Amino acid sequence: MDFPALRKYGLEEFPYICAQCSYCQIGHGACPTYKVKRVDSYSGRGKMLLARGLIQGRISPTDGLEGLKDAIFGCTLCGGCEEICQTDIPFVKIYQVLRGEFMKRGMWPESMNTAKETLLKTCNIQGQSQMDRIEGWSYWTPNEDDLLNRQGKSAETAFFFGCSSSYRGVSIQATIATTLIMDNIGEDYTVLGEEEYCCGAPLIMTGDFEGARTLAEHNIERYKELGVKRIITNCPGCFKMWAHEYKEFLNIDHGFEVVYGYSYIKELIDQDKIKFTKPLNIKLTYHDGCDAGRNSGFYDEPRDIIAALPGVEFEELPHNKDNCYCCGSGGVLRAFDHEFAADIGKLKAQDIERTQADVVASGCPSCVEYMKDQLPQAGCNKTVKDLAVLVAEAMGLTWDGLEEIYE
Ligand code: SF4
Ligand code: SF4
Repeated sequence: MDFPALRKYGLEEFPYICAQCSYCQIGHGACPTYKVKRVDSYSGRGKMLLARGLIQGRISPTDGLEGLKDAIFGCTLCGGCEEICQTDIPFVKIYQVLRGEFMKRGMWPESMNTAKETLLKTCNIQGQSQMDRIEGWSYWTPNEDDLLNRQGKSAETAFFFGCSSSYRGVSIQATIATTLIMDNIGEDYTVLGEEEYCCGAPLIMTGDFEGARTLAEHNIERYKELGVKRIITNCPGCFKMWAHEYKEFLNIDHGFEVVYGYSYIKELIDQDKIKFTKPLNIKLTYHDGCDAGRNSGFYDEPRDIIAALPGVEFEELPHNKDNCYCCGSGGVLRAFDHEFAADIGKLKAQDIERTQADVVASGCPSCVEYMKDQLPQAGCNKTVKDLAVLVAEAMGLTWDGLEEIYE
């Protein structure tokens, strides 16, 4: 059988390249979905062999296509296979393209159809009112008036929140923290507020590249109208879209500089613009979210920030940096099979429990929100905090609702 999209993206040779060494199954870190399922097709190797067998006609579509679909959607797009494999197979891109093939064959999981409908109707993946992107929580923050006035204001720097950071309690904390930090150092920036649409990541991650186009184009047009040159975002998923995947999958060259929020904060520390006044007195560990770490390479920036925080005793996770376990929330797996995602979350919880830390931080709003929700269910009661919140706290910045939004 044929997968035309693999050809379209020049990926048709890669399923033949796998050397079947199995490192992607048993290597340090390695594949979280294989670790949970213990079924070959859930690893990088299994997916390549299954796709190859289908293309060559050695496996009939009746026997193999459903299985490949389950494995392709039962993946967190964590990039573990890409990291560990001795070959140069672009696994994550192949999985996204194959997800699109299943959409075209009418084999998209029902949860993906529902998510798409919600997203295109409401312009955010939570299906909430766009007005609530800021006004749903702005009353918690002392810079409320300034923040509301920044909506639609012309400026060269924009802070792009993303959906998690606009709507999910614990992630909103990081948004508030970042705006307070930006205000504190006198940054001139704009926010789109209710005019900010989802970046389109849930669609691009599930292979519906064209479905994401109107969302991407809307935000780009608004930023061009406001004279924006630099986009800062705390969400590594949004970062990946803006920095790479609009170009890769939509052929959009927007021309903005795109900055990961924690690179921005690290730069502010290097420039001596951030003054820490309050020791945190915590033992801390750090989770490298897949889109921040393996998929974008931001390993040093968060650790440099942590090293600068006063009163922090830092301990790495047993699996860290390029070996860091996915928290389970990536690749839209939560929407496809939330129990499967939760089982991956248990592996994460076990890894965190092996440290002496009392706080686990991350630089990804989705990971923070998912770990906050899942770790207690997996018997891990460490506090989960976004790195931006720790930075704001160490700067002595305070806001109402810090505890309330956390609950
Ligand atoms: S690590 Fe790479 S070459 Fe080895 S089995 Fe996995 S996909 Fe194949
Ligand atoms: S991207 Fe992650 S979850 Fe998916 S196959 Fe590769 S290692 Fe496994």
